[in-house]
Amino acid sequence: MKIICIGRNYAEHAKEMKADLPTEPVFFMKPDTALLKEEDFYIPDFTKDLHHEIELVLKICKAGKHIEEQFAHKYYDEIGLGIDLTARDIQAKCKEKGLPWEKAKAFDNSAPIGKFVKKETLQLNNINFELKINGQSRQLGNSKDLIFSFDKVIAYVSKFVTLKTGDLIYTGTPEGVGQMKIGDKLEGFVNGQSFLKLTVK
Ligand code: MG
Repeated sequence: MKIICIGRNYAEHAKEMKADLPTEPVFFMKPDTALLKEEDFYIPDFTKDLHHEIELVLKICKAGKHIEEQFAHKYYDEIGLGIDLTARDIQAKCKEKGLPWEKAKAFDNSAPIGKFVKKETLQLNNINFELKINGQSRQLGNSKDLIFSFDKVIAYVSKFVTLKTGDLIYTGTPEGVGQMKIGDKLEGFVNGQSFLKLTVK
């Protein structure tokens, strides 16, 4: 399986990154070795500025290429919560030199993932999600603020990359990204319900 991540999909986050609003979806990938299902995360020694990006995640349930937007909803059946962990210092250097972001984004365990629910249990254009660190709210988002909807993202990405059952799409992060420190306890919520826990070691 593969993990596809959408960048700059919430206007306020694009602003805090001093990036222009995208006119088409920005995506990059993480390999399956990035997936982290356990609660403990060990900060790798190559970064001094590891950031959290809480994101709603789509689970692909059917293979497809060149999927039309009107049929895109048939290609994912579950929604969950994940964190797109980012070595911001390394990403900044890559951006400066115009190099790919993989070192900053695709390293081992860089994609913590929590539980999933059937998409029918949620109102897809009004999903609240939140990241708390040590009990304090740090990121708050709602799917209504997506620049590119879930269906648009699937249609766009599948023009370039075949989607397969089990693939995950991290759909972008709202504003409030920030540094994680050893000892931090992260908890992610969807509509007020706990979906994900992570302890930084
Ligand atoms: Mg992200």
